[in-house]
Amino acid sequence: MSAPLSTFGVSRDGGDDSTDALRMEDVALTDIAAQFGTPTYVYSRAALTNAFRRLDAALAAARQGRPYLICYAVKANSNLAVLNVFAKLGAGFDIVSGGELRRVLAAGGDARKVVFSGLGKTTDEICFALQTGIKGFNIESEAELYRINTVAASLDKRAAVSLRVNPDVDAKTHPYISTGLKNNKFGIAFDRAVAVYKQAAQLSHIDVVGVDCHIGSQLVDDAPLLEAMAKIVALADELADAGIHVHHICPGGGVGITYSDEDTIDLNRYAAALEMALSRSRRGLKVELLLEPGRALAGNAGVLLTKVEYVKPTEAKNFLIVDAAMNDLIRPSLYQAHHEIVMASPANATAPKRIYDVVGPVCESADVLGRGRTLAASEGDVIAILSAGAYGFVMASNYNTRTRAAEVMVDGTSMHCVRRREMLDDLFASEMVLTPDLK
Ligand SMILES: *Cc1c(COP(=O)(O)O)cnc(C)c1O
Repeated sequence: MSAPLSTFGVSRDGGDDSTDALRMEDVALTDIAAQFGTPTYVYSRAALTNAFRRLDAALAAARQGRPYLICYAVKANSNLAVLNVFAKLGAGFDIVSGGELRRVLAAGGDARKVVFSGLGKTTDEICFALQTGIKGFNIESEAELYRINTVAASLDKRAAVSLRVNPDVDAKTHPYISTGLKNNKFGIAFDRAVAVYKQAAQLSHIDVVGVDCHIGSQLVDDAPLLEAMAKIVALADELADAGIHVHHICPGGGVGITYSDEDTIDLNRYAAALEMALSRSRRGLKVELLLEPGRALAGNAGVLLTKVEYVKPTEAKNFLIVDAAMNDLIRPSLYQAHHEIVMASPANATAPKRIYDVVGPVCESADVLGRGRTLAASEGDVIAILSAGAYGFVMASNYNTRTRAAEVMVDGTSMHCVRRREMLDDLFASEMVLTPDLK
């Protein structure tokens, strides 16, 4: 059982159980496969926009005119067209590299709404961010704080910083996407935070502007997020006691999406609960609320289209061998993540309904996109892997010398190629052999 197709940004004429071709907005996904080939990532502009607007409306209702900013976590899906959709909606951006900052600027994003997270910022990246005038840095170690102060001094600029503190809250999600526990590489230990803030406040080229945390991803219950929020509000109060007044508070991203039929966090309830946590500030803090959602904005606005290459029934199992693989979408292999897989082609009466493991051509047993899926598919059919809008293309690799997929954005009745399929020549254009006369 899965949630209605509309949850995943797609539909069928005649309803979810009809045998018609799968659509995204007003475009049949089979038309996209015919025009652009497979595998291809397809994003819905309307679904991206709706996801942003739903969160924005929840925050507006909770904040009642008090300031907030949604900083889309670029790493979830950094295609320029996707960033441009969010930039036009007034989003800020949460970046984790200088490369992502370049993308945000290329997509028309506003540097003044960019926060720079990540625990290994290089001197070059810090320089670039200071020169573009970003909103601030989320700092993850004491060493980074001193580095940023030094770089800012050398440029004769001031760096706005928040500490990403580690609230030691169990996000109860997959260990690979849990980031808020003590033994984690991320953030500054909660019990060190006040001391580090005091040092920061004394540095010549640092302005302390906020408190930040991010405890993990794909959280389907808001309790850990709210526990973390209560802790960082209390920390901001303690900082105010010490004469350090922050301008914003950010509980990070992490709001989960429906991948199958699971309930996830209700955005209105979450926004209201964050507001409640702020209102419990002992010092009556008046701060801007920042959020850093990635998956919640992009995850269910994209699908990965793939074509059936071979049907391989065996004694033990039936395999559907498709032309997408773990190099295109690594989540199932990396985190045992579940993605719904449905036919994009209209049902084909001659194809027997079977239970399949849907697998890619990569030479790894882990290259499984979905296990035990009931499908009536035959060679050449197009199928759609749902909820692939976040942590999909961005994690793609060229393993097995496979070119990375094309990316297409649907907007109403039109489809736009937003990244052409990589060509084999692209793959080894920057490689070279030893000079031939060198025996
Ligand atoms: C990845 C990340 C996010 C976004 O996480 P989602 O689960 O996609 O919302 C937000 N903040 C930081 C610091 C991150 O590293």
